[in-house]
Amino acid sequence: GTRTFSIIKPDATRRNLTGKVTAMLEEAGLRVVASKRIHMTREQAEGFYAVHKERPFFGELVDFMISGPVVVQVLEGENAMQRNRDIMGATNPADAAPGTIRKELAESLEANTVHGSDSDENAAIEIAFFFNEDEIV
Ligand code: ATP
Ligand code: MG
Repeated sequence: GTRTFSIIKPDATRRNLTGKVTAMLEEAGLRVVASKRIHMTREQAEGFYAVHKERPFFGELVDFMISGPVVVQVLEGENAMQRNRDIMGATNPADAAPGTIRKELAESLEANTVHGSDSDENAAIEIAFFFNEDEIV
């Protein structure tokens, strides 16, 4: 299989949904091969979302992502990046398909429960941002 990178966002850790989100990922055929709960610093969140720094919602997105702990994970499976995007659902939960994580669990466009890498190239970059290779087993 291949790998992708996931974040269980602060809205989900706040509502004690870490297990429910992880179960939905596992039921979709993804294996959690690395996982840690962290509280990102502002510098980490700004670095992670640097691609969005010109977007109007960047400041609010960073504030949200440091509003509580997150769980960063490496997921492995056949076609892991696309498989994860499919189970996450659309960015805006109002547009997400039934059965997806965002449709079932997300609060809003911003507080949308999960992040998932949007390409294999970005997955490798995002994994390396949070994990050393020896933490992935
Ligand atoms: P993610 O990157 O978190 O997996 P995504 O790829 O579906 O989500 P992006 O377009 O990369 O969506 O936006 C990154 C995140 O920024 C979204 O998940 C959401 O939390 C937030 N976001 C996106 N668009 C808006 C917006 N218009 N207003 C507020 N927040 C937004
Ligand atoms: Mg994205």
